[in-house]
Amino acid sequence: MTDRDQFYVQLDGPATIEDYHWLMEQRVLKFRPEDVSYSPQPKHAEVCRTCVHFFKGEAAHRNTCELMRPHSETESVAPCGWCRFHTTDYQTFGIIDKENKS
Ligand code: SF4
Repeated sequence: MTDRDQFYVQLDGPATIEDYHWLMEQRVLKFRPEDVSYSPQPKHAEVCRTCVHFFKGEAAHRNTCELMRPHSETESVAPCGWCRFHTTDYQTFGIIDKENKS
């Protein structure tokens, strides 16, 4: 079983504004767009907006992906884009399956 504590910052008390700024400077590792064959242009039935890794940022005015970070800080992940790791259930990967069959 995973120790969920490993996913939290251990603080001595309530998070301060300094803690907040420090946290904002930390960036989780993600894949590069080219390494997951990301494209903002639709090609498959599987598109980002139907992927469990897609997050729509209303306030930030940009969409993000848990797995892949665009090269530009301001680039938004296209809702109609795609990559090889599209999944709706973390278990099935339709585009990779199609690649393996061809
Ligand atoms: S299809 Fe790929 S790029 Fe798009 S949201 Fe899912 S994992 Fe991210």
